[in-house]
Amino acid sequence: MNVPLLDLVAQYRSIKTEIDAAVRAVFESQLFILGPEVAACEVAVAEYAQAAYGCGVSSGTDALLIALMSEEIGAGDEVITTPYTFFATAGSIARTGATPVFVDIDPETYNLRPDQIETKITDKTKAIIVVHLYGLMADMDAIMAIARSHRLIVIEDAAQAIGSACRGRRAGSMGDYGCFSFFPSKNLGGAGDGGMVVTQDEARAKKLKMLRNHGMDPKYYHALIGGNFRLDALQAAVINVKLKYLDDWSRARQQNAVRYQRLFSATGLVPEQIQLPWFPASTAATGTGSCSCRHIFNQYVIRSQARDALRAHLTKCGVGTEIYYPVPLHLQECFAYCGHKPGDFPAAETAAAETLALPIYPELTDAQAEYVVACVRDFYIH
Ligand SMILES: *Cc1c(COP(=O)(O)O)cnc(C)c1O
Repeated sequence: MNVPLLDLVAQYRSIKTEIDAAVRAVFESQLFILGPEVAACEVAVAEYAQAAYGCGVSSGTDALLIALMSEEIGAGDEVITTPYTFFATAGSIARTGATPVFVDIDPETYNLRPDQIETKITDKTKAIIVVHLYGLMADMDAIMAIARSHRLIVIEDAAQAIGSACRGRRAGSMGDYGCFSFFPSKNLGGAGDGGMVVTQDEARAKKLKMLRNHGMDPKYYHALIGGNFRLDALQAAVINVKLKYLDDWSRARQQNAVRYQRLFSATGLVPEQIQLPWFPASTAATGTGSCSCRHIFNQYVIRSQARDALRAHLTKCGVGTEIYYPVPLHLQECFAYCGHKPGDFPAAETAAAETLALPIYPELTDAQAEYVVACVRDFYIH
């Protein structure tokens, strides 16, 4: 049996008629730049994220960059973030000229540890970029409290967490900016690159919309130096169709996670062999979890000290896996100038050595999930 890490063809087949019609309508209109599809997408995604305003942009990476630009963060400034995330989180900080300052993660949730943030705040610190990794929100109440007491801007990197929630508040709605990605492998993926910044603040929304279009308002008058960070109308049209299905897909991912927990606990494997992802019980029970947390499982990530051999075994079995992420950012070559060494962020380094993402996509069948678990079991029990 073959079980891919993600099956976007299965998803496309289920909504092909609607997607094809939406794409054709954009072609018929020939309105490819901004226009009604982008405007509708901004309203819909902002509402979904419990935010007042949305600004469609060219990618999740550019969403982070434009949020930093909007706060005029640059050379001489410091921005606190996690070393255990996709590169773009820290890459966007460095691209403004500011310095990324790392804080270690919680080994269970893989998210930034709020209790470590204050030790890194200096008079140069301007902002915190919080990442809600794998679809589980970081401890926003604690992070917002620290940020407010030190007058720091909070940018939520919610690229993996659209629709994720904690105590009824959705990812992207609590910080000063929420950044989403429509990269095809995210829970709400487009047909190429795209992203969105959401905010509760009207002045910030206005500035973001100028910055994504060369700082221009009105036409050919430039009060700011922005760039071309626009969301493509074709991408917006695809997102407008897919957003209707996002809750169903997230529920299917949660049910897949619950099924994995059940199947794995029946194998007799112990935590010294593999560890399953932590997730809030209410998520498992109801799939809504408005009383506490809603994990949307962009990834289902297990841990094993024999990770690389386990991965090789699964590859041989035809099971797709991925390592998110093999090298923590403080040890990346391009950040050597930050002066870090192995051992600086032990939880991030151990996670990088031990984590493995298994297939969790909505269309995963019972038989496929059973096969994945049987293959993992066979690796340990011959
Ligand atoms: C995917 C991702 C991004 C970047 O999004 P793109 O749309 O690919 O530019 C940023 N941060 C995190 C945590 C991501 O997973």
